[in-house]
Amino acid sequence: MSPEMQQKALAWLEEKWVADRVCPICNARTWSVQNGIAELREFSGGDLIVGGQQGIYPAYLVMCKNCGYMHLFNAIAAGLVEKSEPRAER
Ligand SMILES: [Zn+2]
Repeated sequence: MSPEMQQKALAWLEEKWVADRVCPICNARTWSVQNGIAELREFSGGDLIVGGQQGIYPAYLVMCKNCGYMHLFNAIAAGLVEKSEPRAER
């Protein structure tokens, strides 16, 4: 994640995370935004499909510095990644 994206992620969290920022596992309140965008793949019966129309959900992670518990946020909703149109089969 570029420094600009990290700033954007922090600003988005600052705006949206109005609930108590306590960790649901250990009650700590110290979080860090992980440097990188993860991706979740749509489940397809256990088969790995490469280059298909499978859905991929980009996400960024916010980790509790004490216990490692992670919140997962949609990177498209946060404006970090643009939603791409499905590509036609080649
Ligand atoms: Zn924790």
